[in-house]
Amino acid sequence: MAKSKSPVPAFLKDLIDARSPTGAEYEAQAVLDKYLKPAADVYEKDAMGNRIATLNPKGNPTLMLAGHMDELGLIVRYVDDNGFVYFDVLGGHDNVMISGRRVTVLNKQGDVSGVTGKRAIHLMSPEDRKKVPQIHQMWIDIGAKSRDEALERISIGDPVVYQHGFELIHGTVGASRAFDNKSGCYVVSEALRRLADSKKKLTAKVVSVATTQEEIGTRGAVTSSYAVNPDLGIAVDVGHATDHPDCEPKKYGKQTLGGGPIIGRGPNINPFMFERLVECAEKQNIPYQVECEPRPTGTDARAIQMARAGVAAAVVSIPLRYMHTPSEVVDLADVENTVKLIVAFAQSLKKGERGVW
Ligand SMILES: [Zn+2]
Repeated sequence: MAKSKSPVPAFLKDLIDARSPTGAEYEAQAVLDKYLKPAADVYEKDAMGNRIATLNPKGNPTLMLAGHMDELGLIVRYVDDNGFVYFDVLGGHDNVMISGRRVTVLNKQGDVSGVTGKRAIHLMSPEDRKKVPQIHQMWIDIGAKSRDEALERISIGDPVVYQHGFELIHGTVGASRAFDNKSGCYVVSEALRRLADSKKKLTAKVVSVATTQEEIGTRGAVTSSYAVNPDLGIAVDVGHATDHPDCEPKKYGKQTLGGGPIIGRGPNINPFMFERLVECAEKQNIPYQVECEPRPTGTDARAIQMARAGVAAAVVSIPLRYMHTPSEVVDLADVENTVKLIVAFAQSLKKGERGVW
């Protein structure tokens, strides 16, 4: 029997496998250096850890694409006398999801496996059972017998990640930790690779940035959008698919897994950018959805729009269920359609188009 082609591109799989908690994005950087650098005319690294790939450097206008490479994590705060490891969070966690996980402490000397523990249900009072545990009421058990023994293997400030890898659960639907935002980081990087390979002439200068520290306040995008100084910018991130049993569309709108890229609309999004994205999707027969964004979005587009004297920004999101949990769900068909949309947008740009209105 012929082996069917995997719907999982190797570049995306390698990005997901790379552990890149906010502020310690080393492994994702290495993947980008491998796949993205060869496609770029200019490839830069900076003190924030961003990776900045430029195509057609003399082009006009300048389009910046941003997809953050960092993922949620934990960070070692304190080790008690018995060798139990207390932690804080990198990014916004739902505390009910933290305990009972296998985790890896990323120490300089090598990986240290552990388990996130808390008091068992049998030992809780009826009131305690109703409460969400606070961070300091949980710990990481690395099997150490004392503080000294633990500190031979781990250090204060070490980042920690969940051991929840990628799995295709059905058809093109996959589950993994950190689809937020390895999928968006893949999209902007892959779009640049395809633009480099395309025979279609590119008028715009395209700068694809894999940003760091998005999860603690779009920090890599703040500095890189200053450096790149774009006319136009698109942040590609994940967005909430609201098609599961506990999401009220009256409150959250209707966005579907498998429904195609979500194009944001609202004050964070420049009207020219929105219209052009919709036009490109329709011309290319790419399915798409529109989401209302009444405030500055929690994405890199927030930073891009407010950079220097202001930039025409847009947000394109990949629908995702169970955001910021160790098992996020994405349809890889949406990821591929988002790449196509970004490529079409970049190729549609004409000289002087700057989103002025
Ligand atoms: Zn996030």
